[in-house]
Amino acid sequence: MQKAQEFNLKEKLKEVFGHNQFRGNQEEIIKNLLAGNHTFVIMPTGAGKSLCYQLPAVLMDGTAIIISPLIALMKNQTDQLVAFGIDARFLNSTLSKSEMTKVKKDVLSSKVKMLYVAPESLTKEDNLEFLKKAQISFVAIDEAHCISEWGHDFRPEYRKIRGIVDSLGKLPIIALTATATPKVQQDVQKNLQMEDANVFASSFHRSNLFYEVKPKKDPKKQLIKFIKQRKGQSGIVYCLSRKTVEEIAELLSVNDIKALPYHAGLEADVRMRNQDAFLNEDADVIVATIAFGMGIDKPDVRFVIHYDAPKSLEGYYQETGRAGRDGLEGHCLMLYDREDIYKLEKFNKDKSVTERDNAKHLLQEITEYAECSVCRVKQLLHYFGEEFKAHNCGQCDNCHHHHKKYEAEDQVILILKAAKLTEQRFGAKHLADVVMGVPNEYVKSYGHDKLEVYGKGLDFPETDWLSLVRHILIFDFLEKDIENYGVLKITEKGEKFLKSSHSITFTKDYDFSAEAEEAEEEQENTPQTSGKAYDEVLFDLLKNLRKRIAKEKNLPPYVVFQDPSIEEMATTYPTTKEELAQVNGVGMGKVQKFGKPFLDAIVKYVEENEIETASDVVIKSAVNKSKVKIFIIQQIDRKVDLEEIAEAKDLSFDELMDEIEHICYSGTKLNLDYYINQVMERDRQEDLYDYFMNSETDNLQVALQELSEDDFTEEEIRLIRIKFLSEVAN
Ligand code: ADP
Ligand code: MG
Ligand code: ZN
Repeated sequence: MQKAQEFNLKEKLKEVFGHNQFRGNQEEIIKNLLAGNHTFVIMPTGAGKSLCYQLPAVLMDGTAIIISPLIALMKNQTDQLVAFGIDARFLNSTLSKSEMTKVKKDVLSSKVKMLYVAPESLTKEDNLEFLKKAQISFVAIDEAHCISEWGHDFRPEYRKIRGIVDSLGKLPIIALTATATPKVQQDVQKNLQMEDANVFASSFHRSNLFYEVKPKKDPKKQLIKFIKQRKGQSGIVYCLSRKTVEEIAELLSVNDIKALPYHAGLEADVRMRNQDAFLNEDADVIVATIAFGMGIDKPDVRFVIHYDAPKSLEGYYQETGRAGRDGLEGHCLMLYDREDIYKLEKFNKDKSVTERDNAKHLLQEITEYAECSVCRVKQLLHYFGEEFKAHNCGQCDNCHHHHKKYEAEDQVILILKAAKLTEQRFGAKHLADVVMGVPNEYVKSYGHDKLEVYGKGLDFPETDWLSLVRHILIFDFLEKDIENYGVLKITEKGEKFLKSSHSITFTKDYDFSAEAEEAEEEQENTPQTSGKAYDEVLFDLLKNLRKRIAKEKNLPPYVVFQDPSIEEMATTYPTTKEELAQVNGVGMGKVQKFGKPFLDAIVKYVEENEIETASDVVIKSAVNKSKVKIFIIQQIDRKVDLEEIAEAKDLSFDELMDEIEHICYSGTKLNLDYYINQVMERDRQEDLYDYFMNSETDNLQVALQELSEDDFTEEEIRLIRIKFLSEVAN
């Protein structure tokens, strides 16, 4: 084994990767691996795990084996390394026979520094034979949480890794993951027989991320509104099913958001194309199942939305961790509905009992997280076994809202006593039952109805005991037993509290059934801390305009309009005098004096950017846009004759017109000129167009009547009406 001091690591870092400094504990990790020790790395997504094996691989003799489940990204990853001048290859099922042979040959001639391998390739006999002949420097296991069935991304082949590595000789192992609860960590180490490994765990706190959970009330509208406020920013929307992914991607597209779908059901090349479009910023938003994202290194993802509840908090943290990797802000929004959790539970009903229980517990934790009023960051970090000392992170909805507070000293004592008297062998529900004096079977069979704490909770009629226990856990007075799910044990801190208690305030949790609506309204009114609520481009534009006008009139800018008014204009896009007068701090007087150039600027801006101007977002719905309608829109885009479209979909011409009108009336612009120009002369078109321009109604019957002398056909009238609406209204 090489000695770390042989290398000036920092120099090498600069020389090979161009970085000036190590991040976090990268350097110690690298030294540990170079010294030939087993190394276990827990570092949040984006913190720079890859470097921990890539640099040693370059420095050491032989080839490092990198085991990774991310076949789709292997080419990308090795390409990046090759660009740095490092010989890196991959071995997986996407290679042709001859490519495979070449890779093996080059590895055996000791040219290759890193070989990425999928775990399923590793189990193949001939690959194993080949690896046994190669000079291997060490083995890296990326995304090591895949080993644990307690985690969120279990891959059975991962459990065979240790045996395989052993068959290759005595090699140092470095295992890396971005997500490991204490339980998963234990499981991974055990399975890899790495209990003696040096563990390097970094803090999971990502202070640039804002965490928020909103009741899922009108999700489509919530989604579009959220994204439209972040025009041009990159984001990921996670949905549970492939069907929802398709539906939402389409919904966003019809609402002028550049969005693409990603899920395992798409053809590999489509998937790759969409992923690349997102990475290259041809698409702003990727709508995906959790199949998307592991290993994706896009630094400027500004938001991650969970349109459906995630399946585990671990997965959730990993997924939201893809936001703000560049250290700038990232907004993580979960739309939460208990119904979603029930649905997820139902999906599990065909699984084995253990699997089902496991999945249920993971879901339970989601519910607790979503409904709990404690700082989200505190909750999440607690989940990963890390204590967040501050009371208020300032970066989550719970810290921004005012939840009702209450003094909880006596109740905490009561629960801790109950835990003690029941010998710390029970879970939250049982403890709650005991203090509430619920005489159920369990309570009675253990004789817990005889305990002094039995029924004492009735002195605190306002208390929600399950919620209280949750708080107690997050505040570390009780802890979950790793071995026995659900069993709560008193911590040292809890013992101390029992000996000498002190005042402690907890907050009331959300009542998602009753307060959902209130909460929603409240949230709408809180200023956005992350992601400006207004259109920054327009805001800047209007501010410059204000400066110019103020100069012309020789007035200070604030006399024209004040900043909050300009912010509001950049939020509601007023395009008429009346609308402008509605803006706070404006009024008709000001509109007359200063309004014109501002209105002109907004109108121009709105047109250029195709922005909907209603003060609330108007959602064009894709829901009633059946497959047929989408087909029609696409065909019209390609200028296919209407008769042909009708025939292709087995529609009469009238039926096709119905569909087209429907599309048009729901706000989509259609350009039928290519067809209209074939069937109507220009001046006839213009006459009809003028008619609609001056008519008070677009009613077909009225039009037929009024135009009866000019003998226009119904079809012509309908066509021009669509042209007219598309050009003027949509
Ligand atoms: P993860 O921990 O999620 O696997 P990666 O290894 O993909 O993270 O690294 C995330 C990003 O951080 C990459 O763009 C990488 O180039 C960058 N990075 C890693 N280490 C450093 C460093 N010491 N200095 C600067 N950038 C770094
Ligand atoms: Mg990684
Ligand atoms: Zn907080």
